[in-house]
This record gives sequence, structure tokens and C-alpha cells, in this order.
Amino acid sequence: MGIWGRHRGVRGLAIVTKGWQQWRSINRPRPMAYRVPHPRRPEIAHHSRRQTFVARMAGVALIWVLVGIMAVVADRSAPPGHLPWKPLRIGDPVGIATRLKAARTGEDPEACRAALSAGGVEFKPAPEQVNGVCSVHDAVYLGFGIAALNPANTPLTCKEALAFTVWERQVVQPAAFGTLGQGVIAIPNFGSYACRQVIGSPDQKMSEHATANAIDVAGFTLADGTTISVANDWNDPGPKGRFLHEVRDGSCEVFLTTLSPDYNAEHHDHLHLDMGGWPMCA
Ligand SMILES: [Zn+2]
Repeated sequence: MGIWGRHRGVRGLAIVTKGWQQWRSINRPRPMAYRVPHPRRPEIAHHSRRQTFVARMAGVALIWVLVGIMAVVADRSAPPGHLPWKPLRIGDPVGIATRLKAARTGEDPEACRAALSAGGVEFKPAPEQVNGVCSVHDAVYLGFGIAALNPANTPLTCKEALAFTVWERQVVQPAAFGTLGQGVIAIPNFGSYACRQVIGSPDQKMSEHATANAIDVAGFTLADGTTISVANDWNDPGPKGRFLHEVRDGSCEVFLTTLSPDYNAEHHDHLHLDMGGWPMCA
């Protein structure tokens, strides 16, 4: 057989095969359940639903693999303050996950106290108090390790104390050294526990002060004795005012709620810092 003969043979086989396939397609019901027609060219049966399902699963798996790779890279290279799965440490600079981690760690009395101790902060338990819906429970007095609270006998829930400590170390002191060239040695405050509602609240909501989960910071005393007060220096265009605004902005990255003179007239003389409710920064 010559070359033409072989070609004719191949061509003939192809015709027979195609005819057989057409005959089968006519006589056998098409498995429509697994066909997804092309939107504009219905003659193309390019995807079965089963294939689509497998492709979707493969896509989901691929996304998770990529997420895992990104998490490993972040775990090894990003600052711990940005990583919610890393434990809160008072010595770590504030990151996008600090507020979440402070709230989470603060909910666990044991973990909260362990974090304070690991950060070199002394504390002692504050007496329990109950007054109707108000209470001081699981609270501490902060001692050496951060700038002194003035007055010192200010009970704080451990969660609030933990956030306060992170804030003092990672927000207040860096802002003071950066803006004023010296550190803060004392933090005058208007107290923490007060059995009362939110001042000016239309729905009579209880304040976080009612559970010692908030503190009102009146100002700061610097190492050279200089006093910076929220009441007098908030609108100062110089370093004192810049320092107070920097502290307020940093507070919002640590506490769940930060209220400053920018919020309303009731806060003209203090920063309200608490660890309850929905995040709020003003
Ligand atoms: Zn307050």
C-alpha cells in the first residue's frame, strides 16, 4: 500500500469513529445533569458541574494555602503587636492587634496577672465591693513598674490595668520623650470607680466607672516636675498640646473607648479611658 493508501485508511477510520460517536450521542441520553452550557455557544460542553465543584474546591484549597503562607511570613517578620495570635506583652510596641489582645487577655484573670508580672509591673488586689449594680470585682491597685497613679488607691479591673500599663509604656512615655524630651513620672487622675450612669446618656446606661473598668486621666507630671493638664493644655499649640493629642490618638489603639475634650464639654478636663463596650475614639 502506497502513501495515499495509508492516508485513506486513517481518514476512513476517523470517519467511522466520528460516525460511531454521533450514533452514540443520538442514541444515548446526554448526561445533562453534569453539563453546564457555554453562555453564548451551547454546542460547547466544556464544563461539567462535577468539574466545576472540583475546580471550586481546588480554588478554596489554594486560597487557604496562600493564607497559610502569608501567616507564616507575617509570623516571622511582622511586629507582634500586629499579630492577634501572639500573646500580649507589655514590652511590645502597639500594633493593630494590641487593643484586641489587651481585651482578650484581660478577660482571663490568670493570664491578665501573668502579663502584668511578665512586664515587670507590681500590683496588689483591690478589695471587692458591691453596691447594687455597681461593683469592684477582680480589680487591682497598680504599683511600681509604671508612672505612679495619683492618687494611687485607684482600683482598676485587671483588663483596665493591663491596657493602662501597655498605654503608659508604649504610648505615654514614647510621646513624652519624643515631644517633651523627658519621661512621665506621675499620672494625676480623677479616679476609676464611681457608681453612676454615663453622664448625659439619654438611655441611662451605666458607666464603665460603675465597675472600675475606666479611669479619668487629668494630666501628667514630667520628670522635672512640670505638670501638663488636659484642662489647661489641650488647646496649647506647642509641645504640651501636641503631646496630649498624641497620647489621645495612641489611647485609641489600646483602650476600647477613649474620650477626650474633642468628644464633649463633660470631658474638657480629662481623658476617659475604658475597656468596655464597643470601640469608640473621640
Ligand atoms: Zn470617665
